[in-house]
Amino acid sequence: MKTSELAQCRKILVAQQEEALRHTRRALEGELDVNRDDSPDELDIASTESSLSFAGQIREREQRLLLKIDHSLEKIEMGTYGECEECGEEIGFARLKARPVASLCIDCKADQERLER
Ligand SMILES: [Zn+2]
Repeated sequence: MKTSELAQCRKILVAQQEEALRHTRRALEGELDVNRDDSPDELDIASTESSLSFAGQIREREQRLLLKIDHSLEKIEMGTYGECEECGEEIGFARLKARPVASLCIDCKADQERLER
């Protein structure tokens, strides 16, 4: 991969990382607001429960993404970013730009999805 392409991917990754952290924080703050509610009536209890699980879902999803982003940034440091973890071929800049946390080339990804189904 070209250094300029690598720099672009890194920039996207860092931006996604910041956004995921912001989402997680917002989900946590939402949870705190909900807990501060003193005497919720029945309707509030129902919405409290659903917003709690919603916050949990966001956190879980963002955490998975953050792990992938960390892993990708590590690979940039090690100089292995952009290589398919399965076959070692280049993943390709177009694919990485659209999905910078991708760790497989399009062919290996398709194989993996076939196996998962
Ligand atoms: Zn591959």
